[in-house]
This record gives sequence, structure tokens and C-alpha cells, in this order.
Amino acid sequence: MAVYAYRCPNCSEIEVVFPIGTASASASCPDCGATSVRVFSAPMLARTPTALSAQLQRAERSASEPEVVTSPPSRRGGPKVGVHPATSRLPRP
Ligand SMILES: [Zn+2]
Repeated sequence: MAVYAYRCPNCSEIEVVFPIGTASASASCPDCGATSVRVFSAPMLARTPTALSAQLQRAERSASEPEVVTSPPSRRGGPKVGVHPATSRLPRP
């Protein structure tokens, strides 16, 4: 048995176990069922961490298919940018 990597269009890279030499060019994703294409990689070498790989794929995908949003991203939990303490003393309209 060997582990083969496939790239799901909805999720990220998935790994499927097949007997050696029997992996097909595509497989269905175990999470969403979408057809995933096989990804070839060098065996037994250090690989890009999954989280980093997912972000790189997302950035690559957004170059040709930008994600459409309906509202600005929430800044909850993030640092406040561009708010100077003196702005609270300015007159309000
Ligand atoms: Zn999937």
C-alpha cells in the first residue's frame, strides 16, 4: 500500500491509500465527494506544511478567480489599525 496525493477543488490536498501501481488519475474526495486530480510529489522529502500549502493554493486560486465578499472583513480580535488616541478628542459632526 502507498499513499497518493490528490488535490480537491473544494478542500485542499488529500491523501488516499492504494496498492502500489493502482492509483488512478483522479479520485473522489472523502470529505465533499468532488473529483480530485492526482498530484505528483517527490517521495520521502520534507513537504510544505498543510496549512501553508492551503494558503498558497488559496492565493494562487484568487489570482484568476477573486473571492467575492459582501462586507468588509471583521476586525474582531485583530489589532486596531489607523486609530490614533487623539482622534477621540476631535469634534464629531
Ligand atoms: Zn473535498
